[in-house]
Amino acid sequence: MSERTEASLDQPTDEVFDVIVVGGGPAGATAASTLAKDGHSVLLLDRAGRIKPCGGAVPPRLIRDFAIPNHLLKARITSARMVSPSDKAVDMPIEGGYVGMVDRCEFDEWLRERAAQDGAVRRTGRFECFSRNAEGEAVIAYSTGAGRNSQGLRQARAKLVIAADGARSQVAKQAGIPNAENVPCVFAYHEIVASPEESSDAFAGDRCDVYYQGKLSPDFYAWVFPHGAQTSVGVGSANKGFPLRGAVAALRGQTGMEGNDTIRREGAPIPLKPLKRWDNGRDVIAAGDAAGVVAPASGEGIYYAMLCGQMVAQAAAEALVAGDVRLLKQARKRFMREHGRVFWILGMMQKFWYSTDRRRERFVSICQDPDVQYLTWQAYMEKKLVKARPGAHLRIFIKDMAHLLRVVSP
Ligand SMILES: Cc1cc2nc3c(=O)[nH]c(=O)nc-3n(C[C@H](O)[C@H](O)[C@H](O)COP(=O)(O)OP(=O)(O)OC[C@H]3O[C@@H](n4cnc5c(N)ncnc54)[C@H](O)[C@@H]3O)c2cc1C
Repeated sequence: MSERTEASLDQPTDEVFDVIVVGGGPAGATAASTLAKDGHSVLLLDRAGRIKPCGGAVPPRLIRDFAIPNHLLKARITSARMVSPSDKAVDMPIEGGYVGMVDRCEFDEWLRERAAQDGAVRRTGRFECFSRNAEGEAVIAYSTGAGRNSQGLRQARAKLVIAADGARSQVAKQAGIPNAENVPCVFAYHEIVASPEESSDAFAGDRCDVYYQGKLSPDFYAWVFPHGAQTSVGVGSANKGFPLRGAVAALRGQTGMEGNDTIRREGAPIPLKPLKRWDNGRDVIAAGDAAGVVAPASGEGIYYAMLCGQMVAQAAAEALVAGDVRLLKQARKRFMREHGRVFWILGMMQKFWYSTDRRRERFVSICQDPDVQYLTWQAYMEKKLVKARPGAHLRIFIKDMAHLLRVVSP
């Protein structure tokens, strides 16, 4: 705990900040850092004691743009294996790069601590309710276990509030951001297990395995993501009746990990569609999962949460300086300008390729294509649709059509 955090525990009940950020995950911690570095007074509120369930795969672009130190990378992944319904495996090596694997317990705490060092006031407490005082200012009530008023709550108020409390955000809902609680989600469940001591055909410490098999997930995918001594074995599905735990047990059996020690069992929703509006038109704006910014098809959300947190903080700073809350809307506009097209393409891909085993078989088969591998890795690693290798997009389109029309077999 930083000196600043300890000192802040003795502050009066009703504190005032430029911005209160609720939620200290990647989105909230990045937003708090950005605003504090820009000279604004910021409260970063995060509840204690829960590790975010997450596969922890992060691209080089994130590591570079957000200056993530090497010691937070528990493994460096140099290839991905796609496994089809008929157990056909297609390996996709990464040319000259790697995917980093972080443990969220350590990663998120490091980001929160960096925000405190950048000047944010860190507080451990649980957001309870959003209200307004007689002047119409936003007031956040939160519990710390060391309550100060009759309900055992403490209060803080601010000119602006950033809702970064994750999928189906309570802050966004209470502050009136439309549809905050109705964002479509995949439910993801994983078990953190002790990694196998030896590599085998079913497991390698530098390879992420992705299973496209209807029996493991009828509409998303299942995964084995190694993190050094621990491995995340998980599945996702938007189908509420689908037995996620049974699917993970089956995957552990399939990969020879049924007997490995289970360290944690946990799950959480992954939103798969950005909200149409991120702000309430007055003084609250959502960031990260709370704004629905996770890439469809892959479920990748850490990079997008951090970028979104940064963009939301920049828009909040502009709104504060200009005294014009309409500027909050710039955050969504800028984000969607940069990533809206990729989200749309990935959404279509998920809908089409993840719907039947027949299509999944073809999808994995398409992944053998060197052009597909090159473009997929470039898009993931650098967050850009590359223009290199002239004709590659056209070749992929023609091959896709051939697969769709069944001119070629899987
Ligand atoms: C099983 C699973 C696997 C995933 N795997 C990957 C992956 O490999 N790579 C990837 O990029 N993405 C992955 N994701 C998605 C990724 O985890 C999220 O998109 C990302 O964490 C979003 O960050 P965030 O800061 O917006 O929200 P969160 O990380 O959810 O952070 C929200 C924060 O708000 C706090 N909070 C919540 N409620 C309150 C409250 N009432 N009071 C105070 N604080 C509160 C929480 O403690 C938390 O710190 C995965 C998700 C799941 C569920």
